Amino acid sequence: MVGIVVVSHSRRLAEGVAELATQMTQGKVNLAIAAGIDDPENPIGTDAIAVMGAIEQVCDAQGVVVLMDLGSALLSTEMALELLDESIRDKVTLVAAPIVEGTMAASVAAAAGLPMATVVEEARQALSVKQAHLGESVAMAAEAEAATPNAALANDAQTFEWHVKNPHGLHARPAAAIVGALADVDGDVWLQKGDQRVSARSLNSIAKLGVRCDDDITFVATGAQAANAVERFRQLAQTHFGEADAVARGVTADVQPEASTTLDAPAVAGAVSGLSVNEGIVSAPAVLFTHSMPAVPERDARDAASEIEHVKRAIDTVAAHLDQQAKRPHGDIFAAHSMMLRDPELWQAVQARIQVGAIAERAWADALQALADDFRAAESQYMREREADVQDIARQVMMEMTGEPAAAVAIEQPSILLARDLMPSDVAGLDTAKVLGICLSEGGKTSHSAILARAMGIPALVKARGCLEQVTPGQMVTLDGFAGLLWFAPSAAVSAQLAAQRDAWQTEQHQAKQRALQHASTTDGISVSVLANIGGPDDVRKALDSGAEGVGLFRTEFLFQRSDSLPTEQEQFDVYCDIAAALGDQPLTIRSLDVGGDKPLAAFPMPSEDNPFLGVRGVRLCLKHPELLVTQLRAILRAHQQHRNIQLMIPMVARVDEVRQVKALLQREADALGLDASTLPVGIMIEVPAAVLNADALAAEVDFFSIGTNDLTQYVMAADRGNTELTDLINYFDPAVLRAIEMTCAAGGKAGIPVSMCGEMAGDPKATQQLLNIGLRKFSASASLLPALKAQIRQTAVMK
Ligand code: PEP
Ligand code: MG
Repeated sequence: MVGIVVVSHSRRLAEGVAELATQMTQGKVNLAIAAGIDDPENPIGTDAIAVMGAIEQVCDAQGVVVLMDLGSALLSTEMALELLDESIRDKVTLVAAPIVEGTMAASVAAAAGLPMATVVEEARQALSVKQAHLGESVAMAAEAEAATPNAALANDAQTFEWHVKNPHGLHARPAAAIVGALADVDGDVWLQKGDQRVSARSLNSIAKLGVRCDDDITFVATGAQAANAVERFRQLAQTHFGEADAVARGVTADVQPEASTTLDAPAVAGAVSGLSVNEGIVSAPAVLFTHSMPAVPERDARDAASEIEHVKRAIDTVAAHLDQQAKRPHGDIFAAHSMMLRDPELWQAVQARIQVGAIAERAWADALQALADDFRAAESQYMREREADVQDIARQVMMEMTGEPAAAVAIEQPSILLARDLMPSDVAGLDTAKVLGICLSEGGKTSHSAILARAMGIPALVKARGCLEQVTPGQMVTLDGFAGLLWFAPSAAVSAQLAAQRDAWQTEQHQAKQRALQHASTTDGISVSVLANIGGPDDVRKALDSGAEGVGLFRTEFLFQRSDSLPTEQEQFDVYCDIAAALGDQPLTIRSLDVGGDKPLAAFPMPSEDNPFLGVRGVRLCLKHPELLVTQLRAILRAHQQHRNIQLMIPMVARVDEVRQVKALLQREADALGLDASTLPVGIMIEVPAAVLNADALAAEVDFFSIGTNDLTQYVMAADRGNTELTDLINYFDPAVLRAIEMTCAAGGKAGIPVSMCGEMAGDPKATQQLLNIGLRKFSASASLLPALKAQIRQTAVMK
């Protein structure tokens, strides 16, 4: 007989439902309940282990149907499925029917000896009798069903299949990209892996779906905008959900592969062993950092609406703060946290707890604990390490609700920070001038605190078990990020050796920095300019510290992508002036807005195109919608009035006519502002083959060229730059691409205008020799690549 399991937050409710079912079937039903939790003070809740036990209790060859009440009942049941033996799991069907009606219908069918499919169908149809009686339309029932994961799909569902190539699968960042892209689509959107289907609007559910590299997934959309949703998903999938570069390289940009998660290093007297996540060797006094989750207050519950308002206000405050942090460098972690906080399913789970009597803090703590447990039980190490992210947002909202102040470490002098684990929010707030090293007793190579420590260049260890117990605050310690050791009591001989190593490392660091700051020339004395590509004001400091001699490409998209509204002229003017001032006399090349194609703009939705890379991108979009460009041109003209180091660069130019149109707009706006446009240098990106072939004519119109090898390679080779199936073709060393570069340099040389390169190839030391031979003398690349690029130039002789 098909078994029935009833999962409910309330034991009394489940017992009542069971009693009714037993009565209706004259005791024939094989039914078990999993309801409430084993906490006399707080018995309302669900427990995955109890659900698992109930399923095991009633499961026989015919299988089990599970009916759940709301919120976390679903999550606990899904968790229970994961815990169950595969042979049982395959026999379980979760039914999204209302718990009372569904249980009655399923019990009666099961007790009659009907097969699984009929029992499930009976449960699903359980509401129809009541609905027919009350005259509600069947369409409403269908709608309700479509809104529930694991429900049967509507007939109009559209699907798209994808083979996931992201090295870490669909972890928080790609999941955030999916949720973001589908946020305003009307209709239901799902992501399916095997027979598991989750809402594609829930970051946490996508993450928990556990999609790994090489998994096949299906995107499903229903409703009036299903086709649009599928198209958006398809476009996003083709850029690997924002991780195209990582997919091409086979690792995520900021995550190094985990060498080992268990430490079996031999014990070292006077030191604690850990796992190095960033090399370097530093000595300083230890500062211990601890933080804890504020306790759930002892108070009576107010009415549900007030409790819900209390937690909602705290979530909104924390999310607003995270959105601010998301705009800083490495901010995508905070953007993902903000999205986690706003997850509709999480919100549902919190509300469900409040509805059954929990106070806001308890509801929040329990819902987040359940989520953290899910991550802890994940298959992949990477997903397991996301538990810290859940704890981080949980704590921030709890602090907001309880008014408990953040545990701040007072770091008065250069120190080495010791902690159990650091939340991303803790690391982001650190004064890097004072934190010389980080040593965590927990954490992992891919935990966000490790990623941030690396990004900030701080030597760091994780999994240094025992460091907190063995070191006292203020004690002098040496963190050896090469050997993965934290020394707290080295012998005199070891001390001397560490000091020598540390001095050598510091000298090497200092020299590398000094070398990077000096201008580079080839061995045969040819001077080469090295500039930086930046994405916003926050990148300028690092660019200058890395030896940039100006900015060869300022991708202004960030100004347009950071909010739902377009930036005003004044906002743009302020940013351009700030950056130009920070650069002193060195050039600031401002690229006009380059969106469309692979770069959508929330503040300016564009219709989807069949071939977005061949569509309304860059200057094409700006000329079709001059209001976008005109505001930017005015801001640039005004900023240039005060900072003569500013120059304008136009992307995606294919024809002379496009340049003339932009220049005409520039002239018109300069006249309107009473400014002189002729002093503003105007250049173009050479990234479309037509521009290469017509470079002579274009050179006559502009003041400089900058070769964008990312797009140039894609268009010369007719190979989508984000498509990892085509990595052989997306190769800037291909003779056709090299020939295009050569032609551009020749045309620039003939016209007497400077030619630079700002695509990825410029920063690749393996390309330096060839580019210098071709005649390139100006390179622009990401700040982190500049020291190595300069070093390469210094050891290269130009072959003439
Ligand atoms: C390029 O295409 O090479 C380039 C620098 O522009 P982006 O990568 O921003 O398209
Ligand atoms: Mg480009």
